[in-house]
Amino acid sequence: MNRKWIAAILCAVLCLTLLPSALAAQDYEWTLDDYIWTLQSKRVNGVPIGDALNDAFSEISWQAVQDGDDIYGYCSGGVPGDNFELLVRFTGEFTFEIVDGTRNGETMPNPSQLLLDALGAYQQGHRCDACAGLGYTDACLNCAGTGFAFASACLACGGSGRYACRTCGGYGVMTSDYTRECPFCEGTGVAGTCSTCGGGGYGMLSGTLMMCTDCLGSGEAVCPWCSAAGIKMGYLRNS
Ligand SMILES: [Zn+2]
Ligand SMILES: [Zn+2]
Ligand SMILES: [Zn+2]
Ligand SMILES: [Zn+2]
Repeated sequence: MNRKWIAAILCAVLCLTLLPSALAAQDYEWTLDDYIWTLQSKRVNGVPIGDALNDAFSEISWQAVQDGDDIYGYCSGGVPGDNFELLVRFTGEFTFEIVDGTRNGETMPNPSQLLLDALGAYQQGHRCDACAGLGYTDACLNCAGTGFAFASACLACGGSGRYACRTCGGYGVMTSDYTRECPFCEGTGVAGTCSTCGGGGYGMLSGTLMMCTDCLGSGEAVCPWCSAAGIKMGYLRNS
């Protein structure tokens, strides 16, 4: 890893005192702290990267910095003789790519291996006992586990034929919950007035008054952030 560059980034962290403040809903801009959340909460095989690295190494620190148009995440930790540095570049609010990494001061040819090792070790050490790591428990009673009822997808289990394990949330491994309120809509799930119907919920189509298909008659636009990346409307989950 280019240590000079890392040092420059760290300097930028320390020297950067003015961060874009959280603006009003709709105009909300993903902050550097939000990007750290993105990095920590990203799940690989059900395990959040934050849980895996915090478990594998001591003295972990997480940072995000802006460099021109690019935003980088930097994570480092460990003790002398067993330490690491990892640099990622964010490609979106919920996505990033690994750029660089070192292990005990040496540049790693494949830095993602460090993550994979940490994720695997976490999975081994934190298996959910309630479901034996499967992520699901009993077969669905409504469809007897087939996923189909009355010739269509079973409504009770969503067609999976089984219930997600409540103890581990279906991940098969015990993890932190990084679910958070959506800042773009302040947890309401609504992004203002539906532009198609102007908020009325209905519109004229070929001379007939029809329910607006974009908002299903509610007159309100759905927040695109938490509807796309959400666990339920108004909440964000990074996975
Ligand atoms: Zn079912
Ligand atoms: Zn479980
Ligand atoms: Zn509408
Ligand atoms: Zn939202």
